[in-house]
Amino acid sequence: MVARRPRRRSIRLESGSATHVGRIRDVNQDDVASGNDVHVVADGMGGHRGGEVASTVATAAVVEGFTGPDRASLVRAVRLANRAVLERAASDPELSGMGTTLCALAVVDGPGGQGGPDALAVVNIGDSRVYRLDSGGLVRVSDDHSLVADLVRSGELTAGEAAIHPQRNILTRALGIEADPTIDSWELPPARGDRFLLCSDGLFNELDDVRIAELLGEGPVHEVAGRLVAEAVAEGGHDNVTALVIEVIEGPEVPMGGRSPIPAARPERTTGPVRSRPEGDDPRATLRATIGSVAAVVAAAVLVLSLTARQGWFIGNDDGDVAVFRGRPAGILWFDPTFVEGGDLRVSRLDDSTRAAVLETIPVGTLAEARRLVEGFRTHLGDPVPSDPDLSDR
Ligand code: MG
Repeated sequence: MVARRPRRRSIRLESGSATHVGRIRDVNQDDVASGNDVHVVADGMGGHRGGEVASTVATAAVVEGFTGPDRASLVRAVRLANRAVLERAASDPELSGMGTTLCALAVVDGPGGQGGPDALAVVNIGDSRVYRLDSGGLVRVSDDHSLVADLVRSGELTAGEAAIHPQRNILTRALGIEADPTIDSWELPPARGDRFLLCSDGLFNELDDVRIAELLGEGPVHEVAGRLVAEAVAEGGHDNVTALVIEVIEGPEVPMGGRSPIPAARPERTTGPVRSRPEGDDPRATLRATIGSVAAVVAAAVLVLSLTARQGWFIGNDDGDVAVFRGRPAGILWFDPTFVEGGDLRVSRLDDSTRAAVLETIPVGTLAEARRLVEGFRTHLGDPVPSDPDLSDR
């Protein structure tokens, strides 16, 4: 570990975290880490071990790379994490195309700089979330960088429609996708007793805001994290679930300047205005924030899709049978999915939560992962598992 400045902060945090693979996936691609006044959650994506490696590399890079003292240094640490993920992916063909979401919270110098009251910096890229529970209730700090979130912002979808949309896991931004991603950041004045939740989508896709607020406010932080995760798993556990709960245990009674609404995110790139990259370049690098029209958002999302392996395959319903498809679930967008295999397991035989997940479609990174999951369904039912001719990927 690199030695950090010993400066005494006016804010002290206490944190607790929990993570669970869930009830459907066989690998936990989420990761959570804390250290040196910084707390991080990441949700990886990519076939083989890609997602797992991406999230772990990214959280470690942020914890290591955050040396303070301000919000900009937290954004810089996230950039280091992006580079670390890209470099790791380039070093190993099996990790090619991996990526990860990431959100983090750190204690930083407040607007007055060193010597003044401290603040909390929050950063986000992707669709993991940061919430704050304060005396006024639960508020979401971060904005999702996902296709459905863009459609909500443009008025095409309601928040309720987005919450159950089959394409809600399609990201428009992530780490490991391009050299210079746009990273959102905030600086918030804390108050003693404020609680923050950093979590992966596996949590908020199972629990609504009302339930999150109830659980977040009850008991010590490490117990709260465990309860949030346990309840999300009990509610379905369709994805990996991670919760990191942070409480401001030392700090001002009321926030500096009073409690004000969460400000708009400050989106930052390192190289100034957004530019288009020439056609034919690495498509990962062609995701540009040419946001401004839904068409552009969709185009950008398709580019991301073509590389985020978690969208490459899915398990779904083929006329009552569990089937594996290549492509994307049918819906508002693009490519027709292609039937790959299936036909020997009826959807109606599955337990309630698995059936619901299959009907909604389960995106997976690789064919091998799809086969493992279907095999798991069969094992669960006590069926003999057919010998598999080829479990190699793709
Ligand atoms: Mg997830």
